[in-house]
Amino acid sequence: MLLAYHPALIDRLREPTAAEPWRVLVSGCLAGWSCGVDGSDYGLGVALADLVALPTFRALPFCPEQHALGTPRTMPDIHGGDGVDVVAGRARIEDEHGADLTRKMVEGAQAMLAFAKEARVELAVLTDASAACGSQVISDGCRLVPVRRHQKGVGVATALLLEAGIAVVSQRDFRTLALLRARLDSSYQPPDDARDHHEHPWTLEHLPRRHPRA
Ligand code: SF4
Repeated sequence: MLLAYHPALIDRLREPTAAEPWRVLVSGCLAGWSCGVDGSDYGLGVALADLVALPTFRALPFCPEQHALGTPRTMPDIHGGDGVDVVAGRARIEDEHGADLTRKMVEGAQAMLAFAKEARVELAVLTDASAACGSQVISDGCRLVPVRRHQKGVGVATALLLEAGIAVVSQRDFRTLALLRARLDSSYQPPDDARDHHEHPWTLEHLPRRHPRA
């Protein structure tokens, strides 16, 4: 399930403690790994700093694209659907040169799922907009074009994690991340005005359609 659309699930997560912190799968770039297509962390290494600093939170990083394609690499994007459609064989993943990366991207997603199961993760915080890790908004076709198109949908790794019953939240879901932080730190008061990615004015204006995996 996408946690941003099912906040009641947050209350059902077990009580985290310093001795038994939540085991959380995180996108490698969110953990500061230099695993982006360009060999950087996209500047995301600080995005979860508040959560990672808590003794009740244990980050377990993985990068499905680096695992399957190496770093640096060309830019994968989904054509003809989202990650669920890729897994079902209805959509494909190509880079900006038109090379078909579908098989490799599915391999990377399967490796991420295997890692998540081995580590017995309890939820996942993943980088939005990625053809692998996206969960709220992803590109609709190649992003390296004069006018980039977007769609609501999930990346291929997210699709497999959701299918396996692992709850996913993106780094842009600020309302949900604040609610999670309140479970991790009883002294923390979530702000009233925090918004998830689908509640952001840009998303409401440009992508008003309901999320197909919500
Ligand atoms: S595949 Fe996921 S972990 Fe790897 S760079 Fe892209 S968003 Fe980050």
